[in-house]
Amino acid sequence: MLFRRLYVYAFYFVVFLMPASPLTRAQRLTPLSLPPEWRRLQAYDGSLTATQFRRWLDDVYAPDHAGQAWIRLQADGVVIRADATHNVTLTLAGTGQTPKPVPRYWKPLPHPATDPEHPLTGVTVAIDPGHLGGDFARMEERWFQFEGAAPIREGDLTLRVAQVLAPQLERLGAHVALVRSSPEPLTQLRPGNLQSNAEELLRGENNPSSIPPTYQGPADPLKEHSIEWQAERLFYRVAEIHERARRVNEVIRPDLVICVHFNAEPWGDPAHPTLVDADHLHLLVNGAYSTSELAYDDVRFDMLLKLLGQTHPEELALAESVAHALAQATGLPPYRYHSPNAIPLGSSGYVWARNLLANRLYECPVIYTECYVMNSRSFFERFQAGEYEGWRWFDNAWHQDIYQEYAGGIAEGLRRYCTEGMPQMPQAEKCHK
Ligand SMILES: [Zn+2]
Repeated sequence: MLFRRLYVYAFYFVVFLMPASPLTRAQRLTPLSLPPEWRRLQAYDGSLTATQFRRWLDDVYAPDHAGQAWIRLQADGVVIRADATHNVTLTLAGTGQTPKPVPRYWKPLPHPATDPEHPLTGVTVAIDPGHLGGDFARMEERWFQFEGAAPIREGDLTLRVAQVLAPQLERLGAHVALVRSSPEPLTQLRPGNLQSNAEELLRGENNPSSIPPTYQGPADPLKEHSIEWQAERLFYRVAEIHERARRVNEVIRPDLVICVHFNAEPWGDPAHPTLVDADHLHLLVNGAYSTSELAYDDVRFDMLLKLLGQTHPEELALAESVAHALAQATGLPPYRYHSPNAIPLGSSGYVWARNLLANRLYECPVIYTECYVMNSRSFFERFQAGEYEGWRWFDNAWHQDIYQEYAGGIAEGLRRYCTEGMPQMPQAEKCHK
């Protein structure tokens, strides 16, 4: 009787890999990814309740039953389609059972901390400055330049915020590591090494009769069909993030990664960019996988590792706290997605779930901060002011420079989380000295 009820009883995870010749395995993998090591899931034996598994699957990771073709909940656990010929069967803990400790290299932040002056003592934080700097920013299309002004490169801005943030977190007691500490990439690969991968990718898509080897600048309508552009993308968007993930998971092994980004609205010609009025803020945690994404074996596996690693409550709580503090520091309104690849989470109005390569591959909790719109009128004015001491009057409020303000908001959000728990939402007002 008891065993007939779904998700109710405690069991251990048992992973069965059905034997088959490697030649019969039909695997579907994203570019540059290795086949998943499904046996790794065995380590999560009995560490998560069935109720929690289903809640996180439905509400966070695979909304609208996006994974139902591959993940099937049964009376005795869950059956996962590993690839075309293999299933993985997991048994989950149920009501009345104490789940086993979850195996993971990270630990939750102290909440509350015992030392309010140094609440991040014993915590390792990795700061991941988004994108690449210097000349790579132009290749990455994270570069534009207003006439007569210095170029805006997102990868240089994010590195500067990381450099300002690191000592602030250290003063709170944290051990801090920068995932990238120069404008250069971590990966040794370059677009020249990825030409055949790019061509394979293009042939696998629409199988065009002729594939242009190169493209003529960012406005070239054929650029996405060219080997050159695809190889560049594989370099900065895939190979680089894979290498950062290796560094995060195998070398730094932090308790939290903060991925620092700046947002932008479409700016058109990078040599004559469009200025916009919109300026906003949002934070991202991992989730909102689509059916087409989960069709890839490695994406399905990575999602399950995140879910079973129980990163979600930590990601959401920290993102909410940092969102409150950043909103207060910057006075920015929340950004709203109108696309199905993001779902709103939490109560602040600033936090969304998205499946991005970095927040999927980094196995510890990850929060993405997307602060400011780089081609907004207000940001551009402040970018031109550069770094300065104290406060200046911009946009009807007193502001520190953008790097101090951004870093200070993140540090304050983590400090509050560890010392006060979840803060109240600040009043809708700009920061005033
Ligand atoms: Zn970015």
